[in-house]
Amino acid sequence: MDFSYPAEVEQFRTQLREWLSANLTSQLIAARRLSGSDDAAFEKQREWNRTMADAGWAAVSWPREYGGRGATVLEQLVYTEETTRARAPMPLNVIGMNNIAPAIMQYGTESQKTTLLPRMMRADDIWCQGMSEPEAGSDLASLRTRAVRSAGPQGDDFVVNGQKIWTSLGHRAQWCQLYVRTDPEAPKHKGISCLIVDMRLPGIEVRPLVTLNGETDFAEVFFHDVRVPADALLGPLNAGWQVATTTLSHERAGAARLYTEMHVRLEELVDDIAAQGDLLDDPVTLRRLGEIALRIKYLEVLCQRSISATLHGGSEHAAFGTASLAKSVWGEIGQEMAALAFDVLGARGENAPWANYRLTSRALTIAGGTTQITKNITAQRVLGLPRK
Ligand SMILES: Cc1cc2nc3c(=O)[nH]c(=O)nc-3n(C[C@H](O)[C@H](O)[C@H](O)COP(=O)(O)OP(=O)(O)OC[C@H]3O[C@@H](n4cnc5c(N)ncnc54)[C@H](O)[C@@H]3O)c2cc1C
Repeated sequence: MDFSYPAEVEQFRTQLREWLSANLTSQLIAARRLSGSDDAAFEKQREWNRTMADAGWAAVSWPREYGGRGATVLEQLVYTEETTRARAPMPLNVIGMNNIAPAIMQYGTESQKTTLLPRMMRADDIWCQGMSEPEAGSDLASLRTRAVRSAGPQGDDFVVNGQKIWTSLGHRAQWCQLYVRTDPEAPKHKGISCLIVDMRLPGIEVRPLVTLNGETDFAEVFFHDVRVPADALLGPLNAGWQVATTTLSHERAGAARLYTEMHVRLEELVDDIAAQGDLLDDPVTLRRLGEIALRIKYLEVLCQRSISATLHGGSEHAAFGTASLAKSVWGEIGQEMAALAFDVLGARGENAPWANYRLTSRALTIAGGTTQITKNITAQRVLGLPRK
């Protein structure tokens, strides 16, 4: 693996560092650790999104025509390292920017691209993704929310009925990338379509869900005879599975966030433990911290292997398998760190962030694909094991 950075990439780093040190305030850094249901913190992060977007730093991997910088893989890697180390808040539309935008770029009309993408990047509009249903999570292709084509007073519509669940930001969203069944007779992967739905349409009911830590990060969303204009279709009819698996072909270094984020968290944990007196003298705590540091190094190697494979034209198939393994290792490290922090610090410290992390870390091995599913992918794509 060759990870030495050329001079122009280091120049990019210096430019970004300078911009971050001039614009990233300590209040913004603190807001990064606040709860997801805190409206004031949410608005602060929205402001930060706008500042970043207006300076051209919100989506460096996006092509310039959509407000990005067309950054190279190494620039993307440096961007991830620098923004994570500086403790810059994540964009509010994380799922939007990483998962929905690529599909809009690939399948959207020109008007969808130019109106929706810049507002998503600035977090002027909040986006949610309606995939999971009570009976369709890991087995997403079993989804049952129905969309039936019907002529309405305003023209041609889809009439949508059904329910989504675990919809992150569902209670704040103006737009939803919604997966619906449009052909119930077709094999399950082939009868799904993707719609871009305005969450303000009549018949949409959003019920926020309260998580273990008492916060509201996601919602159940119900659709009762919702008339969605036919031009909201993203991609061809019944090609929703292809739309769902679209990835940002120019976004190659996203995996770097996994290990840089864990490095930063570990540093914060060591600082917080050190601030409590002589707790760092305890050999058991030291050993547990050392084990976590080692696991983060392993995660770093996995991520760099996956990035290196894409950088040097390796197999997409194997790179995805390694990225899946990295995702499950990342989730497990987060849970180990949260457990250690809670054992040592309990609810001590300002805002008791570690006690909160102890609760939210349970979701790390579920959201975005459970550990069992990512291990299945690794088994098949990296180890070449048979499906059964
Ligand atoms: C914080 C958070 C945010 C989320 N945000 C969103 C969102 O914005 N939009 C959205 O659509 N969804 C979202 N989800 C839902 C998430 O995608 C699902 O929870 C996940 O895909 C698992 O589906 P499930 O909960 O239905 O569990 P199930 O699929 O029912 O799985 C239950 C258990 O069975 C195991 N299992 C299932 N199938 C297999 C198999 N083939 N082999 C081995 N084990 C298996 C699983 O690993 C799991 O342990 C979010 C979830 C969380 C926790």
